[in-house]
Amino acid sequence: MTDPILENLNPKQLQAVKTTEGYVRVIAGAGSGKTKALTSRFAYIVDRLGINSSNILCVTFTNKAAQEMKKRVKALIGDLYDVSFITTYHGFCVRFLREEINKIHYPKNFIILDAEDQKTILRDVFTELEINSKNLTFKQVLRFISRQKSTSDYLGYMIENKSFVPDEKDSLSSQVYQKYLDKQKRNYALDFDDLIHFTAFILDSNPDVLLKWQQILHYIQVDEAQDSSESQFHLVEMLSRVHQNLFMVGDPDQTIYEWRGAKPEYLVEFDQMFPQAQTIIMNQNYRSTPNILKVGNHIIKNNKIRVDKDMVTDNPEGVEVVHFHGKNDFEETLWVASEIKEILKTENASYSDITILYRSNHLSRNIEQALIKDNIPYTIFGGVRFFERKEIKDVLSLLRLIVQGDNFSFLRMFNHPSRGLGKKFLERLSLLAGEQNLSLLNALENNIEDKELNKKGAVDFLSLAAELKKDAQNNSISDLVKIILDKSGLSELYRKDGDEDRLENIKELVSSMMLLEKENNGPLNIIEYLQEVSLYTDLDKDTENQDKVRLMTIHISKGLEFPYVFLCGFTEGVLPSALSIKERRKRAIEEERRLMYVAVTRAEKRFYMTDSEGFNFTTGLNKYPSRFLFEIKEEFYVRKGKLSAEILQAAQSTAASANAGDTAFSEGDLVMHPVWNKGKIQTVDQGKSQYKVYFFEMGKEKPIDFSFRFLTAAPEENLPQNASSSELLSLQESLKTAPDPFQHDMQGGEPAAGIFENKNRPESFEDENEKR
Ligand code: ATP
Ligand code: MG
Repeated sequence: MTDPILENLNPKQLQAVKTTEGYVRVIAGAGSGKTKALTSRFAYIVDRLGINSSNILCVTFTNKAAQEMKKRVKALIGDLYDVSFITTYHGFCVRFLREEINKIHYPKNFIILDAEDQKTILRDVFTELEINSKNLTFKQVLRFISRQKSTSDYLGYMIENKSFVPDEKDSLSSQVYQKYLDKQKRNYALDFDDLIHFTAFILDSNPDVLLKWQQILHYIQVDEAQDSSESQFHLVEMLSRVHQNLFMVGDPDQTIYEWRGAKPEYLVEFDQMFPQAQTIIMNQNYRSTPNILKVGNHIIKNNKIRVDKDMVTDNPEGVEVVHFHGKNDFEETLWVASEIKEILKTENASYSDITILYRSNHLSRNIEQALIKDNIPYTIFGGVRFFERKEIKDVLSLLRLIVQGDNFSFLRMFNHPSRGLGKKFLERLSLLAGEQNLSLLNALENNIEDKELNKKGAVDFLSLAAELKKDAQNNSISDLVKIILDKSGLSELYRKDGDEDRLENIKELVSSMMLLEKENNGPLNIIEYLQEVSLYTDLDKDTENQDKVRLMTIHISKGLEFPYVFLCGFTEGVLPSALSIKERRKRAIEEERRLMYVAVTRAEKRFYMTDSEGFNFTTGLNKYPSRFLFEIKEEFYVRKGKLSAEILQAAQSTAASANAGDTAFSEGDLVMHPVWNKGKIQTVDQGKSQYKVYFFEMGKEKPIDFSFRFLTAAPEENLPQNASSSELLSLQESLKTAPDPFQHDMQGGEPAAGIFENKNRPESFEDENEKR
């Protein structure tokens, strides 16, 4: 008799599935069936051990991977079980906080700040401090805040009213940070980092709560454990102390979030923390052809900080891996489009079997153009979160305003669509709200007779809010959204705007709400709904079944697999990313190489890597193929397109000098010299161990020895007044590089427009993106 749960598992997987008790870790390479083992184990515990599925916590890093886990579990045990504890760390924390946040005197209806809300706060703070993006970018501040939150005791300030301890090293960022925290506090608003930190804080300081959750969670499983951060690890470790069943699965070679706090050492040193722990190692790959696997194995071997492990496979040989080199961007993506057509013609494949990967979001534009030109349908995964699209955010903000009355929603919507309320109005209102210790909405209600505030637009807005509040009491959420759209004038605004996508997206929102209502057998709790959706990355459900080519960053693709994979923009400075190398040097190179490994190992049948010549605005240099290409033996792939001997040679020597680079700086870096001030590295001469640096004030180039200790990195925002347009362009471009599943801290670089900004911002790169 076949056993749907245990069949098709190899002995190592079986061992992992059946070793249900104790501390167990699985370390294995890409495509070796880790997630399969983990999901089968979940099914086994439920089906064979009779454990309630609500007693098993199963977490991973991204929503997409969590959905993939749920799907696989449901395929094994059916739809009848509660799988809501198969989730992300953040998803679990929201569930937890909804029940326990009152322990720290926060309301159950706390607000979750997404990236847009964070920017709203920062605009406000920047205005108060009279600073702008020349002083600091949003991206810099958000990263600073995230770092501070994970390293300092900010919860004392947030929760227990202890004094704020500023970070002396960066006083401007600290000031922004403190004000950011103040605004969070006043509004009971938590950002993504807080979800984790608050949860850990409550567990740490309330033994009864800890015990309750420890008892609930009989089994804890973590997928992609190499990317768990210290606090995430702390969380699961703490929760597993009573039942002591913690199962961690991961591949240290796929650690790609070190830049935002991933600590693979918890997986690697798991057996030292838990001496009784069992370790299961798997090395058989089921996903890819040997040709693809060879390339993956070969690349990752170049990393020094790793435990060597080679994957093997019994899969049939398959076709060779291809590298295509184009004369320019256009040729590169045109070739990709024509190859896609070829695949469809010659293989039994459909569009949805094909995925195009790239290092950062902005690279999709070029690819999209080629696909559109060739009438190839495509969909972008995680480009802009559905719930962060302007039109969706507008509607949800109004919804939140009527149920929560929060300042963020107020700031976004009080003058959108325009009600003629300007800067003076808001200044006066903020002043009164501060004096009377009220939210902006309540302050407006209480002071509508005030001379500065008594404007037609303000009266209209108040009556809109009051009317909608009433509507909220006797309408389902989907009907309420329709009412909001009509009464607020947003519907009309979008119709006039002529952008059909916006209306389509809103329809999509309403129908997804109706679906949820149906699933729920009744009306949804609006506050819970708002908390949930702030964690979603995109409307995955819809895209799953569509026959379209998928476009996504490598980061988003982790844990997933696709028959045909194109890696576009395989260019030095893009992959590896010059920006990451600049920030984190050697460590970044290894992480970039792991990204490459993740990209290659997504592919089942065919893998293509493409690059092209031209000028790279990110690095400010000519484009050459990635140094990683030269780490792959030539006999492991075939080359298509014309790569001239000169380009090849230049690329190889760029790669060689980059690799030789124990140097602190590379070409194009901005540096500070104690005497000559700002300069830019023109060349890195490995032979002489010298940089050639162009010093702006002096207007001259000077040789500087590698060993000169006082040459330091110049902060990016301190570009010299006479920076050339290419430098500015490269800076702007680099700020758009965004490898983040939550799109959180990488979208920055946006000018701080202040809270008075008209929300109908002029078209910019980001806005164009938002429309998708
Ligand atoms: P990644 O490191 O990319 O997350 P993974 O180790 O989690 O990969 P899975 O996604 O679980 O790997 O498995 C890769 C593919 O191999 C899947 O299509 C899965 O169904 C298949 N697979 C896994 N184990 C087996 C097996 N024992 N027999 C046949 N196919 C398998
Ligand atoms: Mg996996």
